[in-house]
Amino acid sequence: MFRPDEAAGKPPSIRRLAPVERVGVLGGTFDPVHTAHIVVAVEVRAALALDRVLLVPAGDPWQKRGRVVAPAHDRLALVEAAVDGIEGLEASAVEVEREGASVTADTLEVLAAPGRELALVLGADAVANMHTWRRLDDTRHLATIVVVERDGEHAQPPGAGWRVEHVRIPRLDISSTDVRARLAAGRPIDGLVPPAVVRAIASRDLYTHG
Ligand code: ATP
Ligand code: MG
Repeated sequence: MFRPDEAAGKPPSIRRLAPVERVGVLGGTFDPVHTAHIVVAVEVRAALALDRVLLVPAGDPWQKRGRVVAPAHDRLALVEAAVDGIEGLEASAVEVEREGASVTADTLEVLAAPGRELALVLGADAVANMHTWRRLDDTRHLATIVVVERDGEHAQPPGAGWRVEHVRIPRLDISSTDVRARLAAGRPIDGLVPPAVVRAIASRDLYTHG
């Protein structure tokens, strides 16, 4: 085999390019996690050939203060149950373990590592809200934005200079708000959330008390 180093009379180079790990980050309140969240993570991982997608429950979602029902450790446990057995999906405790407000740029900084590319996954609704975010310039430097779009939706991060990918996902009309309302009313949630999450919600006695 022809090796350029040998041809030039130099010892063979042992320098290799470090492999790049591509990691998706799907943040949310996950109060509770539901099947659409899982579909989003799986579709984005496949479309962009990501190694892993992390589902990151917010510890203290500062934009939803007063609206969160379940404690952070319960929401994390539900996400762990939801991703169990699904290849390439993982729960991340990074925001739950941190004190104070969850700011996306802070989270991305914790997850950043040499040889790792971060892809921040956002619904079109979240992208439309990005102008309210803290540390937006830092966010732009830390990650590619992946906009997940249901039919007809389109969104673009505010300002210039973003690395952006768009991924089409099937429309699934499921929301945590509806799941909570169903539980409060004693209606079924099977199929709207994974079976392991149905069990974990019941065993933790979540969402049924007003
Ligand atoms: P809530 O009803 O309390 O607002 P939610 O169902 O929107 O909850 P979040 O935890 O706020 O859940 O969502 C986390 C991320 O998942 C957000 O980026 C949101 O846009 C996205 N997402 C939520 N529901 C869907 C859905 N049905 N289809 C696609 N993306 C979704
Ligand atoms: Mg929402």
